[in-house]
Amino acid sequence: MSRDLRADRLKVLPPYLFAEVDRAKREAIQRGVDVIDLGVGDPDMPTPGPIVEALREAAGDPACHRYPSYAGWTGLRETFAAYFQRRFGVKLDPGKEVLALIGSKEGIANTPLALLNPGEVALVPEPAYPVYRTSTIFAGGEPWEMPLLEKNGFFPDLGAIPADVLDRARLMFINYPNNPTAATASTEQLGRAVEFARKHEVVICHDAAYAETYFGDPPPSILSVPGGREVAIEYHSLSKTFSMAGWRIGFAVGRADALAALLTLKSNVDSGAFIAVQRAAAVALENAEALAGPLRERYRARLEILAGGLEAAGAPLRRPEATFYLWVRVPKGSNSMGFAKRLLDEAGVVATPGVGFGKSGEGFVRMSLTAPEERLEVAAERLSRMRWR
Ligand SMILES: *Cc1c(COP(=O)(O)O)cnc(C)c1O
Repeated sequence: MSRDLRADRLKVLPPYLFAEVDRAKREAIQRGVDVIDLGVGDPDMPTPGPIVEALREAAGDPACHRYPSYAGWTGLRETFAAYFQRRFGVKLDPGKEVLALIGSKEGIANTPLALLNPGEVALVPEPAYPVYRTSTIFAGGEPWEMPLLEKNGFFPDLGAIPADVLDRARLMFINYPNNPTAATASTEQLGRAVEFARKHEVVICHDAAYAETYFGDPPPSILSVPGGREVAIEYHSLSKTFSMAGWRIGFAVGRADALAALLTLKSNVDSGAFIAVQRAAAVALENAEALAGPLRERYRARLEILAGGLEAAGAPLRRPEATFYLWVRVPKGSNSMGFAKRLLDEAGVVATPGVGFGKSGEGFVRMSLTAPEERLEVAAERLSRMRWR
């Protein structure tokens, strides 16, 4: 047997908690169960036609076949800045305050390498998208977890962070609208985070991947909060907004010196997104209102379908104002892993156990709206026959 050749930084990663769910799902399919998978957050609707057309056209242009610029095509950064001003009322300098990413995950994962020294602390939420924590570990930093609790509106209790942790903290990751809790943050809450960041000299890394996937009021940008641009970088993604997850294009915007550091890091790691994809992304952003609106309406209709089934079953449901997730409390006496199994056994529905996103996710399951309406109708009907106890 050969030795475990993995670097130590891989060995310290937590075990993949969803493996058990994956196995249960495969077994159910083998038994012939008609499984409806609401476990993954992978947009199922196709990318809108005009964006695909723009790519088709750009792919044939030899100018697109060369190395892209590291910071992203100037025309795309200008287009993003114009979109941002329309949407959030903030005028960004496309030269210094906008950086193109190969998907927002890429930018998030590279940020600790650019801004965090070994031994320094990154404040990370839990439950959360796992990349905040793992990228901090990869950079030799120390993740300090901020629990997201229902009683605090799934917003971190900034007053609960010990002074010695604050002394070593350089970064704070937050994510609103939030995956997995589906919570949104108000301008007032984001303002509190900005105040905190100024006081303790931490850079806020705000993941806004779901900024355009909303059902109520459009969620704010942290850069629209007074002082936000001086302390925060914000990640934006086309993956969810325009059903472009496979295209790998996103943005980091905000604090200029932080973006400059991220650009230096990136220019040593990658060579930018395919220029043809950047041109198609510009078409998406120029027509953001027209192209994202119909996708949003479909998610809204899907939410109605699934929420109806859960409410009929007596589930204590907090209808989300944004994201395409439902974060549902499990019945008293169950835990999230056990209840996910029960959902599969009794309804053939795959949901993600909340504990897989962090310990404060215990007691919840996450259901995703990235399944076709007719499948959600079936899921809702089966769920409505369950008893939430
Ligand atoms: C989907 C998702 C992302 C990743 O988006 P990409 O732009 O496709 O890399 C980032 N953050 C959260 C919370 C997500 O759910």
